[in-house]
Amino acid sequence: MLSFQTTFELYTGLPVWIGYVFTFLFGSVVGSFLNVVIHRVPREESIVFPNSACPKCGEAIKGYDNIPIFSWLILGGKCRNCKEPISPRYPAVELLTALLWVLCFWQIGFNAYLPVAIAFVTVMVSLVFIDAEHMILPNVITYPLLICAILVRLIFPLTVGALYFKDILSYPLTLLAGQPAWLVSLAGAGLGALFGGGSLWLIGELWKRLRGVDAMGLGDVKLMFGVGALLGFQLTFLTIFIGAFTGAVAGVLYIATQKEKDLQAQIPFGIFLGIGSVISLLFGDALITWYIETFMPR
Ligand SMILES: [Zn+2]
Repeated sequence: MLSFQTTFELYTGLPVWIGYVFTFLFGSVVGSFLNVVIHRVPREESIVFPNSACPKCGEAIKGYDNIPIFSWLILGGKCRNCKEPISPRYPAVELLTALLWVLCFWQIGFNAYLPVAIAFVTVMVSLVFIDAEHMILPNVITYPLLICAILVRLIFPLTVGALYFKDILSYPLTLLAGQPAWLVSLAGAGLGALFGGGSLWLIGELWKRLRGVDAMGLGDVKLMFGVGALLGFQLTFLTIFIGAFTGAVAGVLYIATQKEKDLQAQIPFGIFLGIGSVISLLFGDALITWYIETFMPR
């Protein structure tokens, strides 16, 4: 198999570093748009109109002050008009999105799955930041995620192949050997969705019984339906594992730094599921292979 560097240079005739630079720049521009999504979607405002304005003074932001990462640095993190500070979240989202796009390019390669991976990490950035600020995972994002995941699972085997979905190579999906690839792929999506959404629902129910509080929103369940459908049950298991682990570490650190111990505090678990799903998408297969070779030698 050709390395993706070779593939990129073969298809475009350009050196691969241009691919990286272009991916970074385009990612930062989309990150800039994500800032609008993160600000407006939870407030149920249009993401298209009006143009970006300073949240403090309402002055429209000029094109030359809207260059991702760069403008915030030039302006010293302040609005040009009112000089009020602009949250470092804005350049942080732009930089994070750009870096995640570069990671996708590096890990996934120059192939048909790259746009899917890029769309997936982009959606996750928006959900993580919305959940952090508002403790919600909006349906207008989680429902389309599920629908797009199912469409990818259906269309890929019919066009470019199902080789991107590793779950179909393992039990219980191997029981469907001999069936058309699109059917096996869809079955994998169904299994992953049920496993992802079901586990989160179960964790929420158990928590409610044990503690008498609603710790988990249905948003987490809906998110994991979409993640499960795209990634399949193995990478979904890894997502929940990483999510629970990072969430527990963050929870302990949070409680340790608070003066008043509030153990009933709601956790925006979507943050950690988002982190887990991105790690699983980019490095999951490598992590699972490493785990099997290290701990389950034949
Ligand atoms: Zn201003």
